[in-house]
Amino acid sequence: MRHPKFCVGRLLAVAVAVAGIAAAALAVQVDTRWKIHDTNRPRPPIITPGTGSTQDQPGKPPSDATVLFGGEDLSKWQTAAGQPAKWKVENGYFEVVAKSGPIQTRDGFGDCQLHVEWAAPDPPRGEDQDRGNSGVYLMGLYEVQVLDSYQNITYADGQASAVYGQYPPLVNASRPPGQWQTYDIVFHGPRFDKDGKLLRPAHVTVLDNGVLVQDNVELTGPTAHKARPPYKAHPERLPLSLQDHDHPIRYRNIWIRELAGPGE
Ligand code: MG
Repeated sequence: MRHPKFCVGRLLAVAVAVAGIAAAALAVQVDTRWKIHDTNRPRPPIITPGTGSTQDQPGKPPSDATVLFGGEDLSKWQTAAGQPAKWKVENGYFEVVAKSGPIQTRDGFGDCQLHVEWAAPDPPRGEDQDRGNSGVYLMGLYEVQVLDSYQNITYADGQASAVYGQYPPLVNASRPPGQWQTYDIVFHGPRFDKDGKLLRPAHVTVLDNGVLVQDNVELTGPTAHKARPPYKAHPERLPLSLQDHDHPIRYRNIWIRELAGPGE
């Protein structure tokens, strides 16, 4: 007869191993092909870093970024039906046109560093979720909330820079309406095996106006209102979308850098 302790121990070992594999799937490990300080090791590509934005002037993206909106037009965007985006472009920004629907990038993106700047309407109108609401949907599925959360109370997991319905931000770093605010997002999409089984959930890190508000949180699945639906297998790249929540939110200076892990 097997000793019950042995069974428990083995179960525990399996659980630890599974957790280890899950962690290893996301963690980047030291590449053992190179000795420490190996001068033959390839050096990273040289790029020109960008510049910061001010309220008056958007900054410059890093030289290796893909610019999704540089102040001119919405040529990188379209409606969900593939029609030209109907949101208003003026003075270096674009603005949500209520009831025209969300817009999404023509290209698909997966793991990425994303920079977005937005401003809520000034003077503010409405309250709670009905005030300066939009959203940045990574892969069109995972929303980092855009909301006027300056002196505006709503549920914690629905305020600005929340992973909607899942994670409140660590702090409320919101600027007053009318001011430009920045989101810097690092996103790692989920991975599925060929049968559609989840291998690795999505993770996101968000800096709101330069302040860390989401620290590599693990998403439960797509974000939704009053629901936490499970993951459904999807491609490794999908369009990024912005939400039309009937409020004239403005966006400017949107750029993205695709990330690829070793061997990906
Ligand atoms: Mg929203």
